[in-house]
Amino acid sequence: MERMFSGKVAIVTGGGSGIGQATAILYAANGASVVVSDIDERGGHHTLATIIGHGGKAIFVKADVSNPHDCEHLVSETLKAFSKLDIAFNNAGIGGESNPTADVSIEGWNKIISVNLSSVFYCMKYQIPAMLANGKGAIVNMASILGSVGFANSIGYVAAKHGVIGASQNAALEYSAKGIRINSVGPGFINTPLLTNAGMDDNTKQYLAKMHPIGRLGEPNEVAELVVWLSSDKASFVTGSYYPVDGGYLAQ
Ligand code: NAP
Repeated sequence: MERMFSGKVAIVTGGGSGIGQATAILYAANGASVVVSDIDERGGHHTLATIIGHGGKAIFVKADVSNPHDCEHLVSETLKAFSKLDIAFNNAGIGGESNPTADVSIEGWNKIISVNLSSVFYCMKYQIPAMLANGKGAIVNMASILGSVGFANSIGYVAAKHGVIGASQNAALEYSAKGIRINSVGPGFINTPLLTNAGMDDNTKQYLAKMHPIGRLGEPNEVAELVVWLSSDKASFVTGSYYPVDGGYLAQ
């Protein structure tokens, strides 16, 4: 039986950990050739080894998505390896500085905006011409539930994720008629290293879990399933949309 992504080429940024890793593995399991990208070479190579170990096709390209040259290089390496680009999941991101607005450092603000928002623009800027040359494509950008509501002590993260939703809608207006569908996803709190890296202990995670009507944190593969569907031809009429995957968080 033909697999969903047979013959397709997919880029995943932040593919070395958490949601990006789960999605890269799921793309590959469905037949895609995957370009795993991350700033963290160890994580990226771990994802690569997992995919290849299961008989999939993948390469690793190191990129810091807050650097436009790295984003351009990521696309050119993809074209060099696989000659085309069909799918991109612009997922890499960080939690950033946690402080009330007046105490957030200028450096902290600039960092989160460049890693979590400017990166999405840089990636799309170089991915879209490759997809136009291919005649079609699908882009999924990583937002968050915090792309549509606030969360105290997180102004940079919240602003960046609101920006990702708007940027995705805007690009969708420009390119949907040219065959490129562009959507964003909004996970609730997902059990990944990002939470631990943001200094959250088990008590904090339990507190966060209770904020979701479903009563627990999400798992990376529960986000990956949505991203894979949005990336596939099954979502052929879906573009310019924002999809929460949040255990009911935004229903409150
Ligand atoms: P994760 O497990 O920390 O994975 C993120 C990956 O991105 C890591 O390998 C990280 O490397 C990498 N990365 C960080 N900065 C980068 C940069 N400048 N360039 C390229 N790669 C970079 O986090 P995750 O939870 O899967 O998060 C993935 C995305 O989902 C993020 O955009 C996040 O905002 C979003 N999200 C997460 C949650 C959640 O609760 N986990 C909820 C909603 C949305 P290092 O480990 O070296 O930093």
